[in-house]
Amino acid sequence: MTPLAARLVRQIAATGPMTVADYMTACLLHPTLGYYATRDPLGAEGDFITAPEISQMFGELVGLALAQAWIDRGAPAPVALVELGPGRGTLMADALRATRGVPGFHGAVRLHLVEASAPLRAEQARRLGPFAPEWHADIATLPDLPLLLIANEFFDALPVRQFLREGDGWRERMVTVREGALTFALGPAQPMPELAARRQDTRDGDMVETSAPAAALAAMLGAQIARNGGAALIVDYGSEGSRGDTLQAVRAHRKEGPLDTPGGADLTAHVDFAALAAAAPCHTTAAIPQGVWLERLGITRRAQVLARGLTGAALDDHIAAHRRLTHPQEMGNLFLAMALSDDAGPPPGLTAAAAPELAR
Ligand code: SAH
Repeated sequence: MTPLAARLVRQIAATGPMTVADYMTACLLHPTLGYYATRDPLGAEGDFITAPEISQMFGELVGLALAQAWIDRGAPAPVALVELGPGRGTLMADALRATRGVPGFHGAVRLHLVEASAPLRAEQARRLGPFAPEWHADIATLPDLPLLLIANEFFDALPVRQFLREGDGWRERMVTVREGALTFALGPAQPMPELAARRQDTRDGDMVETSAPAAALAAMLGAQIARNGGAALIVDYGSEGSRGDTLQAVRAHRKEGPLDTPGGADLTAHVDFAALAAAAPCHTTAAIPQGVWLERLGITRRAQVLARGLTGAALDDHIAAHRRLTHPQEMGNLFLAMALSDDAGPPPGLTAAAAPELAR
């Protein structure tokens, strides 16, 4: 049993079962025993690998898309360039390298990083030090400036609650203790008026997930964009609408049970892009497959240029990385990209959703 598991068993014995959301928060963010507090989980020797760690092309294209969004808005200066959950800083380093040639861009950007993990902040400082980033524990302290934002695999780390439909009510899935070990159990059926709309796309026995923190974040970002202008790119695995139980634990590149190693495994849930769009008081786009988005941004042309300088195993790796990011059977369809924006429209690669009047 991990030290955090022992602590949670004692806590539940004293104060009762906890929601899946509270369990996720403890596992990921406990200040001394939480997953992100205690390690750098990324990369080949870590627990999982992300798009920017697979290839430099990902961060480059994100950087150029955000620089184009900046130009589309008349090149406001200063502008806040923000990343939520920058991991090792790889994406932002690639984005800044790719945009060196955009006249005035680097002079205008103020780099702001929202990061909970001390080990990852140190890694980000190593890579991004020359750009004098400012770190934030959450978005509440971001400067009141036009916004250019990227969040890759950030929203999936935000806590979800899970509800099982039963008759006229919903039973919340809770983490409790049986025979000294953590286990799942269902709470009593409750009416849950906020889930009324989900009666249309679910049946008895179906599970739905909600993330109040994700919705609150989208609401705050959307409000800042509506107020000051800008655009935000959100890339993650998920769907439009929540689909059943998507809580997942990954350790050393392998899936395991979400209760197996509290604090020792990454815990995520699929992102409900429709819920983010509904919460954001600004323009939003549909969430489109990552592969389609990257192709529109020109990843194949960029891959061909990079391939010219490569031979042998390095060339094979490069071709495999391109395929991994874009192929429908790899990350291409599993991951979706969407944007929040002001009236100037979304960054290239994404298309503004039709206004509700037009869609009807
Ligand atoms: N975007 C990076 C890393 C993804 S991993 C990449 O694509 O490689 C998730 C990142 O979000 C990590 O940097 C993690 O420390 C951070 N994170 C997770 N939950 C967070 C929270 N609630 N507040 C701030 N940062 C968080």
